Amino acid sequence: IEHIDADVVVIGAGVAGLSAAPRLVEAGHDVVVLEARERVGGRLWTEVIGGTLLELGGQWVSPDQTALLETVETLGLETFERYRAGESVYVDGAGERIRFTGEQLPVADDTVAEMERLTALLDELVADIGAEEPWAHPRARELDTVSFAAWLAQQSSDEVACRHIAMFIGEAMLTKPAHAFSALQAVLMAASAGSFSNLVDSEFILDRRVVGGLQRVPLTLAERLGERVRTGTPVRRLEHTPDGVVVTSDRVVVRARRAIVAMPPTLIPRIDFQPPLPRRQHQLHQHLSFGLVIKVHAVYDRPFWREDGLSGTAFSPYLLVHEAYDNTNHEDERGTLVGFVSDEHADGVFAMDAEQRRERILADLAAYFGPEAANPVVYYESDWGTEEWTRGAYGASYDLGGLSRYGADQRTPVGPIHWACSDFAGLGFQHVDGGIRSGWAAAADVVAALDA
Ligand code: FAD
Repeated sequence: IEHIDADVVVIGAGVAGLSAAPRLVEAGHDVVVLEARERVGGRLWTEVIGGTLLELGGQWVSPDQTALLETVETLGLETFERYRAGESVYVDGAGERIRFTGEQLPVADDTVAEMERLTALLDELVADIGAEEPWAHPRARELDTVSFAAWLAQQSSDEVACRHIAMFIGEAMLTKPAHAFSALQAVLMAASAGSFSNLVDSEFILDRRVVGGLQRVPLTLAERLGERVRTGTPVRRLEHTPDGVVVTSDRVVVRARRAIVAMPPTLIPRIDFQPPLPRRQHQLHQHLSFGLVIKVHAVYDRPFWREDGLSGTAFSPYLLVHEAYDNTNHEDERGTLVGFVSDEHADGVFAMDAEQRRERILADLAAYFGPEAANPVVYYESDWGTEEWTRGAYGASYDLGGLSRYGADQRTPVGPIHWACSDFAGLGFQHVDGGIRSGWAAAADVVAALDA
């Protein structure tokens, strides 16, 4: 086992940890980054599978994500626009396929009006509560002790409208059923993108991609950090005193003045802290859990749906694949569709064997885009639930009451230990942008502490 002395040890080489480290280096500090996996990037992961580049984790960039956009630019990476020309598809409760354009789903006029009313209501709450400190708002406890499903039912008797609004936050974002998270947690999710309107606007939230995949961001950051980044070093133990830490991983022991733990908060309790963390930290980590979603990639010899005038965008709260998009790579002849199967639907298809599951999921893509969709040349399911160092997707969120009760403590340092992750409240919450912001914030705190 190798022993290293450093000023700061960063645990986790996801985008949060890899955004913190360069700031510390710029401020003149020695940094070591310890990463459990044999690769960097965490929930950003690009692989060539069956001859096509697939983004197995996070991929989209939206115009409000200025920390990510700044990073992409600084690293000299290029972006391209998601293909969106043509008509979108919606499948209704009777299984009928309806083509439409624009953001408004083709549902009954009174349901459209009701969805617009609920959207305005959520936009108002978002404007009032914000992304940074939702727990500090006078209505925090009230909104945090009712499930989003129950809250929607209180606001509207139009079940179809409620079901669609629930889908945008539940299946599509927190990847939990809307009975399993609070209205306040839903407001935070929307606030992360500036407004609920932004969050549900696929033109906005799914705007661009990075050429070569979004994992280029952590890969390039790590490349620049060079030998400071050690992969294959899962951290098992963290001993701390007010003056510093000793961090033990499988291959390296680092003695440092400060630590930044840049891991999903749900995995933090797997580290043996000595002395143990304070009561508030123990409690708050137990009130967070990961959602679950299968990201399905289907690659075809050409983007055949475009010939039919379709954009590749599709929605239905009635199908297992609740949303799908054209995910064709930059300057690629092959066409790729990406679809998502979320929360309890994911449980359902995971209970099937792999062949059945593939058939069932492709049947939904065929319901959206026609029979050709059932026969891809490459089919792949991103299954983050089985990833030892993640255990779900996209991110972690609080149970009922957890955000208002514990949120204020999520980033509070414990002695020399600081925290960073996209799963903490803030702009870009549960997105790469939020991970970068949290890394920058933790680095600034550490620099200030070291300079004091
Ligand atoms: P992570 O990426 O989870 O990084 C934490 C790191 O810590 C990991 O590398 C992990 O291996 C490491 N680690 C864990 N335990 C230990 C240990 N004991 N010792 C050492 N290292 C450890 N976001 C978007 O902005 N746009 C999208 O389109 C998008 N789509 C997504 C699709 C999927 C399928 C998924 C899974 C996520 C998506 N996201 C998206 C979310 C985004 O990927 C994450 O919010 C972000 O990448 C998280 O970064 P992070 O650094 O905070 O955490």
